[in-house]
Amino acid sequence: MIIQRVVLNSRPGKNGNPVAENFRMEEVSLADNISEGQVQVRTLYLSVDPYMRCKMNEDTGTDYLAPWQLSQVVDGGGIGIVEESKHIHLAKGDFVTSFYWPWQTKAILDGNGLEKVDPQLVDGHLSYFLGAIGMPGLTSLIGVQEKGHISAGSNQTMVVSGAAGACGSLAGQIGHLLGCSRVVGICGTHEKCLFLTSELGFDAAINYKKGNVAAQLRESCPAGVDVYFDNVGGDISDTMNQNSHIILCGQISQYNKDVPYPPPLSPATEAIQKERNITRERFTVLNYKDKFQPGLLQLSQWFKEGKLKIKETVINGLGNMGVAFQSMMTGGNIGKQIVCISEDFSL
Ligand code: NAP
Repeated sequence: MIIQRVVLNSRPGKNGNPVAENFRMEEVSLADNISEGQVQVRTLYLSVDPYMRCKMNEDTGTDYLAPWQLSQVVDGGGIGIVEESKHIHLAKGDFVTSFYWPWQTKAILDGNGLEKVDPQLVDGHLSYFLGAIGMPGLTSLIGVQEKGHISAGSNQTMVVSGAAGACGSLAGQIGHLLGCSRVVGICGTHEKCLFLTSELGFDAAINYKKGNVAAQLRESCPAGVDVYFDNVGGDISDTMNQNSHIILCGQISQYNKDVPYPPPLSPATEAIQKERNITRERFTVLNYKDKFQPGLLQLSQWFKEGKLKIKETVINGLGNMGVAFQSMMTGGNIGKQIVCISEDFSL
């Protein structure tokens, strides 16, 4: 059987901006038979995520991410349907997900590397398993719970950068749900600001591309900032309160530069951090695997109760994986960037 797949065509270079042409689609044949323990799957949705930028470099700079190889198939978060199974725990028609899903229309995979998912958790919106009821959702929930030091009723203000993206749009809502009295988002367009305040319940939103961000932050956070969920690497130390907390989730503004992670702070910012006793701890969701199952149930419950609003930007077709990745890295998405490979859920 002939299938399509996407391979890494070229590397952008450690200091380059990734483009769609760094990826190439090609046709290959898939084996006709599967072996014991394997399944044949049809891909339904694939995820593009900022961490993939590291995998485009020859050296990812981290020990938990392996680089993609030139002319080899690319992989990442994906979900699909089992078309054929020789695995004891997986049956034809099951929906399965993996963090290492190959960017292919169909694939033969080791069943042990797949996780069966229950479509009821997402009311049938299977792509949510790659977003709000998946890795980005867990990142926001566990990040806020573990590093935010939020205590309900204590009038805390939270600021979120990258606020209209997959993690940011959820982190702000979770801040409110856990008891922050004020949540302010920072993002890259006026449309995104409106989305945050009118649809997600953020109390204010700032477009970092317009005007003086520090002044707008002081105005939007009259009692100062107690918790900063940082996806971007923007410095807001000026408005942070004594004994406040930075959740160091990501630093996307630095991903196309050859700098260490996390990038060092300026001496002035470091001085404020020390003086005000601000914590700034690196957070990595993969270090909290024991909290994934209860976390997914909590996220699903909030979603079903209408307390957590979920937004996606969907691009269609395997041939657009590179386009989707480039778009997400440059702010083209509101909510989670998803690529739909097939909408056919039947066998
Ligand atoms: P996302 O926010 O959905 O998409 C990326 C967004 O980053 C874009 O939409 C864009 O929005 C913004 N951006 C791009 N370049 C920027 C720049 N130079 N300055 C400011 N904003 C910029 O992506 P996500 O999946 O939710 O990831 C968000 C962050 O969380 C990333 O830093 C990622 O690495 C991190 N993350 C960390 C973990 C963990 O375990 N710690 C897990 C998942 C994700 P604008 O229009 O607002 O610019």
